[in-house]
Amino acid sequence: MIGTTWSQVFLRLGFLLAVALLLGWWLEQIWLCLCLVLTGVLSWHLYNLYRLDNWLQKSKKLDPPEASGIWGEVFYQIYKLQKRNRKRKRKLANMLKQFQASTGAMPDATVVLNSKHKIEWFNKAAVQLLGLKAAQDIGQIVSNLVRTPAFTEFLHEMGDANSNANARGRSIKILSPADPQVMLRIHLVPYGDNKRLMIARDVTDLHRLEQIRQDFVANVSHELRTPLTVIGGFVETLQDDLQEANEHFQRQWQRPLDLVAQQAHRMQNIVNDLLLLSRLESEIPKDMRKIVEVQFLLEDLCEEATALSGEARHQFVLDIEEDVHLYGSPDELESAFANLVFNAVRYTPAGGQIKLSWYRDAAGAHFAVEDTGEGIAEHHLPRLTERFYRVDVARSRKQGGTGLGLAIVKHVLQRHSASLHIESQLGEGSLFRCDFPPSAIVITEADETEDEDETTALD
Ligand code: ADP
Repeated sequence: MIGTTWSQVFLRLGFLLAVALLLGWWLEQIWLCLCLVLTGVLSWHLYNLYRLDNWLQKSKKLDPPEASGIWGEVFYQIYKLQKRNRKRKRKLANMLKQFQASTGAMPDATVVLNSKHKIEWFNKAAVQLLGLKAAQDIGQIVSNLVRTPAFTEFLHEMGDANSNANARGRSIKILSPADPQVMLRIHLVPYGDNKRLMIARDVTDLHRLEQIRQDFVANVSHELRTPLTVIGGFVETLQDDLQEANEHFQRQWQRPLDLVAQQAHRMQNIVNDLLLLSRLESEIPKDMRKIVEVQFLLEDLCEEATALSGEARHQFVLDIEEDVHLYGSPDELESAFANLVFNAVRYTPAGGQIKLSWYRDAAGAHFAVEDTGEGIAEHHLPRLTERFYRVDVARSRKQGGTGLGLAIVKHVLQRHSASLHIESQLGEGSLFRCDFPPSAIVITEADETEDEDETTALD
C-alpha cells in the first residue's frame, strides 16, 4: 500500500535525522552529521532514479529492477502500467490484423484516402482491380494512379462530400485501370476525420447484362422502324385511294384502315421514343456545352402546345426570366420540356390552365409546368418515371401516349446534372419541375445573347 510506504519513508527519514542529531551532539559535529546523513539519503534516491531511467530507456526487459521501500513501489506501479499498455497494444494489433485480414479477403477493392486523396492503406483486391502496387503507391494521390478523367472529376465533385449529403450516395462506373475488360463501380464514403473510404466493385457481369438489354431494345426498335414506315406509307396511300372507291367499299374499309393507320402511328411513336431512350442511355453526352436560349424554346413549345390543345382551348400562361439560359444539349432539352408540356395538355380537361415558368433562385434554375388537370394519386408519383408506367393505360393510349415520356425526361435531366420534382393533388392539378444546378446557368444581357463572350456562367 502506497500510503503505508510513504509513512515508512517519513519514519525512516525521521529516524535517520534523529540518529544524525544524536551522533552530532555526541561528536559535537551536528551539521556535519546532518549533511552526511542527508547526502546519503539523496544519493540513494539519485541512484534509484538512475536505475529507473536506465530501465525505462535502455532495458527491453519487462521485469523492473529490485528495490525496497518507496522505490520498489514506484517500480511496481510503472511495471503494472507497462503491462496494461502492452496488453492493450497486443489487443489493438490483433484487432487491426483481423480487420486487415477480413478487408483483405473482401472481393471489393478498399482504399483508405486522406483529406487530400492520398492513399493511406489498401487491400489485396485493390492491387488486382485498381492496379495499385503494394508499398510504392502508399502516400500517392489516387487520381495520379487511376487516371480516368471521369474518376478525377468524380473525386473533385466529392471533394466537399462531408458537407454534401447528396454526394454520399453517389458512385461512378469506370473501366479498371488494371484490366480494360473489367467494369468497376466506385463509391466514395466519407468517414472519421475528413477521410474517405473508396470501394471499387467488379460489376462487369451486370454491365454486360445491361449492355445486352440496351442493345436488344435498340436493335428491335431499329428493326421495327422500317416495316412500320412501310405499313404507314401504304395505309396512307390506301386511305387516299379509298376516297375514289364506291360508297359500299368506303363504308367497309374506312374504319379498319383508320385503325391500322392509328396503331401504326402509335407504334412508330413508341419505336422513336425507345430509340431516343437507348441513345440517351448509351451515348456519351456531346454538345452539352451549347447555350440553350430557354425563352425562345418555351415560346416555340407554347405555340405547339396551343396547336395540340386545339378545340380544348387551354389557357397558357408564360412566366419567363428572359436573360437566364442554360448550358446543355438543345435537342435533348427540347424533347424533355416538350414531353412535360404536351402531357399537361393531354391530361388537363378542356379550358384548364397550363402555366410554364422559367426562373432562377439560389438553388439554381427551374422550369416548371403547372396544370389544373386531373392530378395523380400520391402512390403513383415515385413510379411515374419508369418505362411504360401509366396511371391509366387506356387513357394514356387514347391520348396518344407511349408511357415513355417521363422516362425520357428523367434521362435528359440526369445528363444535365438536373432532377425532376413532381407534386400533384388528385382533382386539382400537377406540377412538374426540372431543377438545374447553378453551374448550368448562363446569364446574358438581353440584347447580347448572340455574343457568347458576354455570357457569365454561375458557379
Ligand atoms: P404517357 O405517354 O402515357 O403520357 P409519360 O411517361 O409521359 O407517359 O407519363 C406517365 C404517366 O404519368 C401518364 O400515363 C399519366 O398517367 C401521368 N401523367 C403525366 N403527366 C401528367 C399530368 N400533367 N397530369 C396528370 N397525369 C400525368
